[in-house]
Amino acid sequence: MAKIFCIANQKGGVGKTTTTVNLAAGLAKIGQRVLLVDLDPQGNATMGSGVDKRALELSVYDVLLESASVKEAAVLAEQCGYHVLGANRELAGAEVELVPLAQREKRLKTALTAAEKDYDFVLIDCPPSLSMLTLNGLCSAHGVVVPMQCEYFALEGLTDLVNTIKQVHANLNPDLQVIGLLRVMYDPRITLQSQVSDQLKDHFGDKVFDTVIPRNVRLAEAPSYGLPGVVFDASAKGSVAFVEFAKEMVKRIKKM
Ligand code: ADP
Ligand code: MG
Repeated sequence: MAKIFCIANQKGGVGKTTTTVNLAAGLAKIGQRVLLVDLDPQGNATMGSGVDKRALELSVYDVLLESASVKEAAVLAEQCGYHVLGANRELAGAEVELVPLAQREKRLKTALTAAEKDYDFVLIDCPPSLSMLTLNGLCSAHGVVVPMQCEYFALEGLTDLVNTIKQVHANLNPDLQVIGLLRVMYDPRITLQSQVSDQLKDHFGDKVFDTVIPRNVRLAEAPSYGLPGVVFDASAKGSVAFVEFAKEMVKRIKKM
């Protein structure tokens, strides 16, 4: 049975998509069956897995509107070794189209339930907002992985996200928990970053993942080749860290 995780943080540019595609590739590399769900209309995780968002016959949009199943709409990202339920601009319309529908925040959950035997991990890349799309992600998930940069305002944004997760937990999805905070784009030479990193540890204890993802230019270059860093350059520091993170996730789910 698949364990389902949202990669969420309502801030943009914090490394959600980079985390989603590289964790997916890392998990695939260590033999896990993975489905990546792109819930962002920008389709960056789709393109970053080598799947052309403009050429999708079916996407997560069709799944949310119940005109396709996950099995029908997911495609194999061949070089990456995982499946992708892709997204493109069409998905932006779903936000409005879902409003009048029954169980509108549980559409993705219902669809994923039918596919949960086919995968060990489902990773959902969320858009940078607390929208109906993100809500569909949170309602489907067992846990939330929160990528964050160790910067001054990082903790502030976290409060909103944690409150949203608490509300979803209380009202819609009792399974939901913050599985962990992942420090990304980390540069230990910057004093402020190591201070914030220490603060995070003090405050959140073992909710902070042991693995730290360094700032690494290879991770930033990889999307222009339509690949996760882990596939594009397996020996890069950032790629090695993401494979470590995949192993840490496998360990964590054993305790869930
Ligand atoms: P989000 O999905 O939260 O908007 P992205 O994953 O797209 O964030 O990352 C934002 C930018 O930062 C991208 O250009 C990405 O390539 C870059 N980036 C992400 N993680 C790293 C890293 N560890 N090192 C260097 N660049 C990174
Ligand atoms: Mg993104």
